[in-house]
Amino acid sequence: MSQAIKITKVAHSNVDSLDFDNIPFGKIFTDHMYEAHYEDGKWGSFAIKPLENLSVHPGNLAWHYGQSIFEGMKATKGKDGAPLLFRPEEHIYRLNASAARMCMPEFPEAAFLDAIHTIVKMEEAWIPPSEGSALYIRPLMFATDEAIGVRPSEKYTLLIMCLPVGPYYPKPVSLLADTKYIRAAMGGVGEAKTAGNYAASLYPAKLAKEEGYDQIMWLDAKEHKYVQEVGTMNIFFVIDGKVVTPITEGTILKGITRKTIIQLLEEKGYDVEQRRINIDEIVEAYKAGTLSEVFGTGTAAVIANVNKLKYKDTVMDFDQDKATVSAYAKSTINGLRNQTVEDTHNWVVEAGTYTA
Ligand SMILES: *Cc1c(COP(=O)(O)O)cnc(C)c1O
Repeated sequence: MSQAIKITKVAHSNVDSLDFDNIPFGKIFTDHMYEAHYEDGKWGSFAIKPLENLSVHPGNLAWHYGQSIFEGMKATKGKDGAPLLFRPEEHIYRLNASAARMCMPEFPEAAFLDAIHTIVKMEEAWIPPSEGSALYIRPLMFATDEAIGVRPSEKYTLLIMCLPVGPYYPKPVSLLADTKYIRAAMGGVGEAKTAGNYAASLYPAKLAKEEGYDQIMWLDAKEHKYVQEVGTMNIFFVIDGKVVTPITEGTILKGITRKTIIQLLEEKGYDVEQRRINIDEIVEAYKAGTLSEVFGTGTAAVIANVNKLKYKDTVMDFDQDKATVSAYAKSTINGLRNQTVEDTHNWVVEAGTYTA
């Protein structure tokens, strides 16, 4: 059994002030947060308490040099209103992979699962009931040493926040394949969910927006030819009925939604190829009329259909009526999350049922 969590509850929940039909993404936080501290080589002081501001020294190492990693997962409501988690262990494996790359300490799996189960069960009244809405769970780990100088911190904090959210992209998105800027290079930190990756994407994303595109589709750093992924989503193409997605070889974030969808599509009988994808092949397939759909996958968006993709002078438009593969994947994953599709993989677990 992991060390017990010290729980302090709010006197009055704020949940009554939430309009479940109208939730702005990322702005509404639930009543409580989880907090843990790493000091003298171990994690401890596990607590759940009212959400509050932190008091941070100006020399905080995370602020100066970016030792900061995060996760994103979602809780939904099942048939009987039970709070459900989806593959929570995958998120602690990935958090710890990000931690290793950023020279940060791993967080114990048992303590993580205990934390997620306990806080989601406490905040279950905040889980929006409608399909596509969810309680977004944001674990965050950052350095807390108070010192100037580039070196790994000796102290860290791990927080878990919960935010009710509506659908992330209610409409299809347009993508620009960037031929100048890059997200990740081999040997870099593209596989880690670390703060700097997102900071580095802001300026190119702003330029893409000015050109009228919602997001960037990143190409490889060396040749600007091989498709990587989108801001916070992995990317899939359907060519000649075959599903194709870039292989994660060190520059691409290993999405849990990506992994889930590959398995669901294979089980449905689709041919799914994970390989390097040259953008010229995408343009050729489009011109030949064999590229029927493009979609992104990620916890926040679940599935976002792409209606437009630009590469150099070619603008590709996609008919949303042909997006049948993504429609199947989306209804299946949402169905698993609200228990209208049978969970044959034991991916769905009820929050509050964890025992170490
Ligand atoms: C989080 C993230 C994804 C999606 O991962 P999921 O586990 O499916 O949520 C994809 N790409 C990037 C860059 C991400 O940060």
